[in-house]
Amino acid sequence: MTLQPARDDTAHTADGKVRCDACPVTCWIRPGLAGACDRYANRDGELVRVDPHVILQRTLDQGGRVVPFSRRAAEWAGEILSDDAPLFVTAIGAGTTYPDYKPAPFIVSAEVDGVDMVTVVTEGIFSYCGVKVKVDTDRWLGPEQATVRAQGEAVGHVTTGEYGSQMLSLGGVHHLTGGSKKEGRVTCDTLLELSNGKPVELVVDGGSTIVVEAGKPPVINGVPEERMRVGCGSATIGIFAKQWLGKVDEVVVVDDHITGVLSEHQSGKVLGIPPTGIRMKGRRSTPGRYFQVAEPGTGWGGTDISDPLSILGAFDPAVARPGLTLFMVSTTGEHAAFYRLDEALRPVEAAMPAALRASTERIKENCEPALSTVLFMAGAGGSLRAGVTENPVRLTRSVKDTLTRVTCGGAPVYVWPGGGITFMVDVTRLPANAFGYVPTPALVAPIEFTLRLDDYAALGGHMDHVRPLSTLGEHERRLVPQLPGNTWPFGREGPPWGRE
Ligand code: SF4
Repeated sequence: MTLQPARDDTAHTADGKVRCDACPVTCWIRPGLAGACDRYANRDGELVRVDPHVILQRTLDQGGRVVPFSRRAAEWAGEILSDDAPLFVTAIGAGTTYPDYKPAPFIVSAEVDGVDMVTVVTEGIFSYCGVKVKVDTDRWLGPEQATVRAQGEAVGHVTTGEYGSQMLSLGGVHHLTGGSKKEGRVTCDTLLELSNGKPVELVVDGGSTIVVEAGKPPVINGVPEERMRVGCGSATIGIFAKQWLGKVDEVVVVDDHITGVLSEHQSGKVLGIPPTGIRMKGRRSTPGRYFQVAEPGTGWGGTDISDPLSILGAFDPAVARPGLTLFMVSTTGEHAAFYRLDEALRPVEAAMPAALRASTERIKENCEPALSTVLFMAGAGGSLRAGVTENPVRLTRSVKDTLTRVTCGGAPVYVWPGGGITFMVDVTRLPANAFGYVPTPALVAPIEFTLRLDDYAALGGHMDHVRPLSTLGEHERRLVPQLPGNTWPFGREGPPWGRE
């Protein structure tokens, strides 16, 4: 079994070097060595793609292990790849169309349920790409718009705070190409590591140090995050109000965004909970909902406080009474305390009653595990389209018209509305190490276009390069089971079956 030759018109020198032109770097590669990206090598004077080409197998045992194609082929007693097998040719390890005047490396036909289909695959070189990172945490990571750094270089920024999560936007063409050479290289490294599911340490200017790894809990200032909030402070009041009824006089759910106060909250009113004379700091939004009770931080409920009483004013003596009980809890249940008012109406901490301990546990139980989510985002609306069709805009239109399904390493993608073919994919949905890089710098990501063969002909596809799956057998390939939960690219859901 041999590695797949990258192309058949490779330039050579007399001393055996071969020239790779799979990206603008155009390495001259000595015999036995690899190019700058480690993706192409000179093997006995032939330019080869180093990694095996990945083919997805739709298996019933979704947990199946990865099987080297060579071994599997032997098991099949010489039968290479059956055209009607439940297989899907990905672009991982397939090679590229660069410099974009030639057709995609694989344009593979298959008959699926009586319909002639074609899948066009290429490893795209993306100078326009980045990752969107969702960090599930209440803790404050840094100010919105603050620069996010890796290895001291600016690689992105903090963007919006979402429900129980802080979003980061990393990469993009400005960090890849618009800064110093080092900034571009480090940005490329950071995107590559995150996209391939590796941990990366990020430092937010004026904020926290975070270790992000796709599908794993974020580590914030050295502490792994365990739980995502059950809700904002107001939502938490609403969820648990009935369970607190009769067990405590007042509840405050401390939250950096919306702190909730049971007796003033609509749910407390509906339940007939009497006023307690509590006075809150911060800005009252609506009854029982307070903004800005403290500064953001890594303490209670994503604030900077370690003493929850610091967000209370003095109790109103006209309403409060000695002995009144107060439960204070954070949105994840990580922090909780119980108080009783003394004769001077000051809250004094006391042992937590069992019912409130159970309530704290219930809040924790209702929190989902905190994770980091990494979505790779890239623009495929440029030159790689020429590898698919001689009339690139027709591919864009075909994607918009949902006649062409776009996948990334066989994983489903979200294609943004509007111009271009700008897509996002959850990196955990791809086979391992699906992403590469070239030192221009740019990320290399697999992309596949699947459509009906007659639609492909209609959009000006490279019909003379269409070949059946069974012709792919002579070089090293790797069969990878389809990930559970991924839509099968030939499935009937969505394009290209829409007309049926
Ligand atoms: S860096 Fe570019 S030219 Fe060099 S081996 Fe990799 S793909 Fe080929």
